[in-house]
Amino acid sequence: MSNDKLNKILLLFSKVNPKPKMELKFSSDFELLISVILSAQSTDRMVNKVTKSLYGIANTPVSILSMGLHSLREKIKQLGLFNKKSVNIINTCIILINKYQGRVPNNMTDLQSLPGVGRKTANVILNCIFNKNVIAVDTHVFRVCNRIGIIQEKTVFDAEMRLLKIVPESFKLYFHNWFVLHGRYVCSSKLPKCSICLISHLCKFKHKRM
Ligand code: SF4
Repeated sequence: MSNDKLNKILLLFSKVNPKPKMELKFSSDFELLISVILSAQSTDRMVNKVTKSLYGIANTPVSILSMGLHSLREKIKQLGLFNKKSVNIINTCIILINKYQGRVPNNMTDLQSLPGVGRKTANVILNCIFNKNVIAVDTHVFRVCNRIGIIQEKTVFDAEMRLLKIVPESFKLYFHNWFVLHGRYVCSSKLPKCSICLISHLCKFKHKRM
């Protein structure tokens, strides 16, 4: 896809939704970190439901450790992988207290050293908390960008590297949220809503549903 077309797509997204927001609800850096860890293989709606109750009781590393593994597991058991997630969260809280004075670190290496935090999660934190111009490639971003023709990549890592090269700096901050929202509500995996899509004239997908 040409730079001109890519810019047109990004301009359209920025006009319609200048400051897109994540759908995960949080009121601190730590809450977002925990919510993103919880969001693996779970919907944002379910995570918000669980964290509304969890954060009412415990929303700091110290208070989650005081709660203990068993109670944490009970609180998040509606979510997929809750056993593993509860262990990861407890261990993350221990590291945050021992190494980072209870704060969420602001660089990729330190974030990825936390249990349950992979490259995508670290990029979400860097992007959405620390306002860094990085691009978190999740399943929506990967599918939509390949489908539209912005990239032609086979792995999430290659997609991220390519996007970092071709997306203008001024559009990187909101790129992740624009494409997650577009993938979730318009360009869905099985039934994309091409007839109402604002970028359909720029999209190279061969099987548009008009
Ligand atoms: S035209 Fe269809 S396939 Fe292309 S971006 Fe829009 S919804 Fe997705």
